[in-house]
Amino acid sequence: LVSAGDAVTDQFGRNIKYLRVSITDRCNLKCFYCMPHGAPAVQHRDILRYEEIARIVRIAASLGITKVRITGGEPLVRKDCVQLIKMIREIPEIDTIAMTTNGILLPEYLSELVQAGLNAVNISLDTLQRQRFRAITGCDGIPDWKALLRCCVQAGITTKTNTVLLAENREEWAEIAALAQEFPICVRFIEQMPLGQGIMDEQHTAQAVLEQLRGRWSDLRPAETQDCSAPARYYTSGKLMGAVGVIAPMTHRFCRSCDRVRLTSTGQLKPCLSYATHVDVRARLRGGASDEEIQELLRQSIYQKPANHCFGMQTDDAERQTMNRIGG
Ligand code: SAM
Ligand code: SF4
Repeated sequence: LVSAGDAVTDQFGRNIKYLRVSITDRCNLKCFYCMPHGAPAVQHRDILRYEEIARIVRIAASLGITKVRITGGEPLVRKDCVQLIKMIREIPEIDTIAMTTNGILLPEYLSELVQAGLNAVNISLDTLQRQRFRAITGCDGIPDWKALLRCCVQAGITTKTNTVLLAENREEWAEIAALAQEFPICVRFIEQMPLGQGIMDEQHTAQAVLEQLRGRWSDLRPAETQDCSAPARYYTSGKLMGAVGVIAPMTHRFCRSCDRVRLTSTGQLKPCLSYATHVDVRARLRGGASDEEIQELLRQSIYQKPANHCFGMQTDDAERQTMNRIGG
């Protein structure tokens, strides 16, 4: 397989370096904005096997992908997830392996994951309150967030939290952000995207959360160093050990600096989260395509990445799959 050298670029000259991989559509929670209740799970045979995922990642790495995020559904409900981290760690071009998780099973797997080569974790944390956790996720068993964050920090991995901005957690935003006062982590707030179950409520914007946070930390200001390829805008205060971040896909489009593509649990490569447009990598793999053929398929799909997302627009090719199948 001939390496492309630097990151492959799309038709608008964006360097694509980051692949998000959903490894299952199944989940041990049912967040109302993500998972439709009662929707059938994808059949096991339709889900990519770990060997297939590792092969796709290796080919993507030959095109300049250097960062992989494992997501779901809930990635840790899939058996032997640690094995997949080990397999990806063996791909020399991949410098960062991250995971997005709801945290429920993280205490059980954290040390094995880190040993296998996991560098970073994003934990979804929509509430600190037990009853509200049940209302949002449909489940009991809220993690001990502080104990979990402490373990992640002690394990030496980059740790972030993600909070979707909801009417249900609005009164807690500053309380959640205060986790960055206690821990050297990034606490991030995300505008809900109108995908699957998601409904964008105009009230719950990045602007609204920043106003609430400024009420608590009057010196809150944009951080001096921003990761330009990351969708979050980061803020600091003299009182914070870490930082807070806001991700505003709806009110502050960041598509111009987007550097990512997504692989769904069923092996669709999606150049943009918001569009249904994809290439069926699984069908080509299982149909016996060579690495070179898969590489060309990925290259073409990446090249055609659209300029902007289409959230909030009326378009026939908008994505209709739910977030748990795509991975966020
Ligand atoms: N189960 C894992 C978790 O919750 O972290 C990983 C998968 S989940 C689909 C990935 C991320 O997508 C989570 O942070 C979740 O809050 C976010 N998400 C799901 N639906 C969303 C929506 N409609 N708008 C914005 N974020 C959403
Ligand atoms: Fe599960 Fe994550 Fe979706 Fe919540 S956001 S239902 S934890 S996949």
